[in-house]
Amino acid sequence: MDCVFCGIIEGGIPSNKVFENDRVVAFRDIQPAAPVHILIIPKKHIPTMNDVTSEDDALMAELFAAARQIAGELGIAESGYRLVNNVNGDGGQVVYHLHLHLLGGTKLKGLN
Ligand code: IMP
Repeated sequence: MDCVFCGIIEGGIPSNKVFENDRVVAFRDIQPAAPVHILIIPKKHIPTMNDVTSEDDALMAELFAAARQIAGELGIAESGYRLVNNVNGDGGQVVYHLHLHLLGGTKLKGLN
């Protein structure tokens, strides 16, 4: 399987990790769109949100729990942040391994 995020999980591709447990890993985006830009991913290879099933409910909850924890640890919980999941072409998805973008550290523009 040719998946850059699976390569990061397996360790063959280097990354700047900020969180890891048995099911979830989070690392800094290589092309940050904000002062804080973290990608939070399941270790299970799920291509897009469309591929999530009810069997993944607990795993999805863990992604959000990791986001809350990381936002707190990086000092942006109170100032605020944005969680983004891009899906397929119109959503702007480039890497087909489900991920949440955690963006913060500045006043984010758009969407409101
Ligand atoms: P997408 O557009 O939602 O699929 O976002 C993919 C993100 O992955 C982009 O923000 C890329 O900058 C990021 N990215 C791609 N390859 C790497 C990598 O090797 N390390 C960290 N981030 C990556």
